[in-house]
Amino acid sequence: NRQRFQGKTAIVTGAGSGIGKAAAIRLAQEGAKVALFDLQNDRTRSTEHEINNIFRGVSRSFDVDVSDPERMEKAVQEAASYFGGIDIVFANAGINGVLAPIEEMSFEDWERTLRINLNGTFLTVRYTLPYLKEKGEGSIIITSSINGSDRFAGFGMSAYSTTKAGQVGFAKMAALELAKFKIRVNVICPGAIATNIDQTSEPSDELKEIVIPVEYPEGSQPLADGPGQPEDVADLVAFLASSESKHITGARIVIDGAESLL
Ligand code: NAD
Repeated sequence: NRQRFQGKTAIVTGAGSGIGKAAAIRLAQEGAKVALFDLQNDRTRSTEHEINNIFRGVSRSFDVDVSDPERMEKAVQEAASYFGGIDIVFANAGINGVLAPIEEMSFEDWERTLRINLNGTFLTVRYTLPYLKEKGEGSIIITSSINGSDRFAGFGMSAYSTTKAGQVGFAKMAALELAKFKIRVNVICPGAIATNIDQTSEPSDELKEIVIPVEYPEGSQPLADGPGQPEDVADLVAFLASSESKHITGARIVIDGAESLL
């Protein structure tokens, strides 16, 4: 049982479910203290209890909407003072949002997806940065998607894809800007992972009329014969958070069992 994160503190957004939850557990298993950021809900509290039952007092949940600047600033401050600084930031919270052909996408729905996925990423980095700088090094990991990679597009996902590509652009810039502070910024691009994200999808009726190729049902992954698991992604997050990846920054790593190569 390695303890790669002994003495380190991580902030994980979207920690109440799916990829964020698996990553929070993995980081805690390897010695990190973990601040669990999520919308107010029972799932975050249960992640907290799950972790603290095994490793007493190493995690604490914070009710935060990542797209709310005032709340984010305050929660980051609280977490940093509670745990004594921040070393690792996993900017992971996100929604699929409304899935619809462009002509059916309302401006409000478009904006909401941008607000949560893009503003949320910016605010997470913006407000944790001073604390990472204080430590003299740090690792930021951002959850994009194969929708943010070069050769993949999901039907109805104009807003979502925009945010996922936008995160890649932001991360490249941040990696360059923050290298001199020894702060690394990397992006992970999962394919379909078995989480609760589909509950945040709001497919329009019009979308159903677009024919999705039946020979490759959504979520096909040649390597796994199904979707990936959150724990698979947690392995990658832990690697990027650890010093084993100390010379990797500005990278975009696809983790999709070859789904985007179909
Ligand atoms: P999930 O729905 O299981 O978990 C996401 C968590 O984020 C939830 O607990 C939710 O409450 C939280 N969240 C949503 N909006 C929030 C907000 N405004 N403020 C704070 N917390 C908020 O989904 P997941 O699959 O684990 O998603 C995590 C990330 O992975 C997302 O950015 C998603 O786009 C990305 N992703 C997922 C998949 C997949 O197939 N599951 C594929 C590629 C990328």
